[in-house]
Amino acid sequence: MTTFFDTHAHFPDDAAAVEGLLTRAGEAGVTRLMAVGGSPDLNPGALRAAAARPQQVLLALGLDREQAAPPDALAAADALFDEIEPERLAAVGEIGLDYQRVDAAGRRRQCALMEHQLERAAQWELPVIIHTRMADVDTLAVLRNASTLPWFRGARPGVIHCFTGDQAFADALLDLGYYLSFSGIVTFANAGPLRAVARTIPAERLLIETDTPFLTPVPLRGRPNEPAYVTHVASCLARARGMALDELAALTTANAGRLFSR
Ligand SMILES: [Zn+2]
Repeated sequence: MTTFFDTHAHFPDDAAAVEGLLTRAGEAGVTRLMAVGGSPDLNPGALRAAAARPQQVLLALGLDREQAAPPDALAAADALFDEIEPERLAAVGEIGLDYQRVDAAGRRRQCALMEHQLERAAQWELPVIIHTRMADVDTLAVLRNASTLPWFRGARPGVIHCFTGDQAFADALLDLGYYLSFSGIVTFANAGPLRAVARTIPAERLLIETDTPFLTPVPLRGRPNEPAYVTHVASCLARARGMALDELAALTTANAGRLFSR
């Protein structure tokens, strides 16, 4: 059976819903997946999914852009990480920048929060899961600057999740050692330019994800996304890259296993 690794899914804090999502994922061949937090709303669902099926589900916790508001986002991130044993985490995330309708002061706070969590991930030797939206220049600036700081020694590479950038952004991230993960957006009719970029990503840096419950792939638009549907992202990428589906599935599963292994 062809097996898949969904590297990015959010879960509701609801035992029955989590059970249904994970069962349907398993039936579709999604034998591994990353339950991703990123906010006080999303972290509990990620914890619940990872606790329900430790063999199938890896865990990432973090605080992303929406938490970069006063009074003290850095202290909130510290409190989150102080409460968890690092052995339970496979990654820190999602963290990162989202500049839609954010002023200059808010942007500076987001960069500080991102850097703070990059430092924690480096300390714990965990990969990071990074969100970037309308913030490509600063995402690169934060990552490049971090790589020059003393604490960055020994830091693991990470993944840019739901990659939707252009070729230059992809190349710069690849140069920094990052993996790129493609979501259902790559299946959209108007995503020709993104599929063209996806064709050029080195095989060993390619990942797939759903970003459940968002970004449902074609041909299932209109319903909530779930990890089982990562197979549609995989088929689309396999077609774009001229590979067999099982080959693309094996490749991306191996890549995720390598990136997120402890
Ligand atoms: Zn997400």
